Amino acid sequence: MKYQSTRGRAPILGFEETVLAGLARDGGLYVPTELPHLDAGTLADLRGRSYEDVALRVMLPFTDLDETRLGDMIEAAYAGFGHAARAPLVQIDADQWLLELFHGPTLAFKDFAMQFIGQVFQDAMKRRGDRLTIVGATSGDTGSAAIEAFRGLDNVECFILLPEGRVSEVQRRQMTTPTEPNVHAIAVDGDFDDCQALVKAMFNDHAFRDRVNLTAVNSINWARVLAQSVYYVSSAVALGAPERSVSYTVPTGNFGDIFAGDLARRMGVPIDRLVIATNRNDILHRTMETGEHRKEGVAPTISPSMDIQVSSNFERALFRAYDEDGNAVAQLMEELSSEGGFSISQGAMGALREVYRSGCASEEETAATIRSIYARTGEVLCPHTAVGVKVATEHRGETPMVTLATAHPAKFPDAVEAATGSRPALPPRMADLFERPERITTVPNALDALKTLIEETLF
Ligand SMILES: *Cc1c(COP(=O)(O)O)cnc(C)c1O
Repeated sequence: MKYQSTRGRAPILGFEETVLAGLARDGGLYVPTELPHLDAGTLADLRGRSYEDVALRVMLPFTDLDETRLGDMIEAAYAGFGHAARAPLVQIDADQWLLELFHGPTLAFKDFAMQFIGQVFQDAMKRRGDRLTIVGATSGDTGSAAIEAFRGLDNVECFILLPEGRVSEVQRRQMTTPTEPNVHAIAVDGDFDDCQALVKAMFNDHAFRDRVNLTAVNSINWARVLAQSVYYVSSAVALGAPERSVSYTVPTGNFGDIFAGDLARRMGVPIDRLVIATNRNDILHRTMETGEHRKEGVAPTISPSMDIQVSSNFERALFRAYDEDGNAVAQLMEELSSEGGFSISQGAMGALREVYRSGCASEEETAATIRSIYARTGEVLCPHTAVGVKVATEHRGETPMVTLATAHPAKFPDAVEAATGSRPALPPRMADLFERPERITTVPNALDALKTLIEETLF
């Protein structure tokens, strides 16, 4: 499989180079040049298979890997999940389901992609006889998923920068309690933007970047989108595909998770609607309503993993909507950085509306949804999932509606307790999280101090 940039001015790459590169050299995002097709017979044949079997069937054509090796990597990636079905469906009404994506080691859907990327990186470095240094900044979920995925892997050293005192206690402990010496939680005396600026500065120091073989694992990595497409296939098949269509509502921030749904749809999975659900940081909902994509300030909410204004993976959807015209996409992205927004052409808006619908939930609506679903079904939703269920309920139609349950409620105990009156417990396998010893290094908000720390650790 070959991959091209959404801005059309970067080299065409194979799977492994695409995953190791992350971002394309022209600033664009990598997408496949063609798509494999899952025909009705193939979909019917996936019914009743294990999650790992479905993953192998879906992902194999996108990689240049041998089937046995990819199968082993998938087994290893999902072995640490706390549920045999990996992504189980739970019914909450006659025509509504939750797809629980929080049974991975850090209790958010990010584990599905990050655990797989860990395997891809380890495999590539083993064959190349090389070492890789991963540096990432996190406001919570991505960093803990990365540390969990890379802990104990050979040939990979992982440094995660977190803003001191600004992540939740559960999130911090998930990053500071792994004991493997190749993973490092680093508290920066600054906020999330400072952490991100330090990572960017390290990437721009080419000598340093080459010396330590630096890589990023942010949400635009193609392997993340690919790994996330698998649970759309497994759940659609379980609910009656290929004979019956299914719709999905996706709590959305960076647009990676919902774009994975479009990937499954374009491969032949009968998906009727893909509904974008946003909290009050509703740039994507406004875009769908008006055709204008304009940044506003970010407002903090009880669903913090969706508090963003630049939705990176939306560029992949635009590339499709503009008939794969890289120049048009490059121009829009230039306008976004120079003018804070852009207008989408009528033709492209038509293409986007064929695939996506949208809705948003206020803070009060989110809390009310947690409360009412708990009262009606006994299910406890995390605030992100509650945003999804609120919007899903407004978009019910002929087909079953599945909302992606993106995190475990115990990851956001304060918001859940405020809505329901009771504090959600961590799953038994991590009930001792608060007793485990923590290991964290604190650095000032200074590039030199950080580079020294990394080099002293490595050499
Ligand atoms: C990352 C995240 C989201 C948003 O997913 P995107 O792929 O960025 O759209 C939603 N909910 C939770 C819990 C997350 O961690």
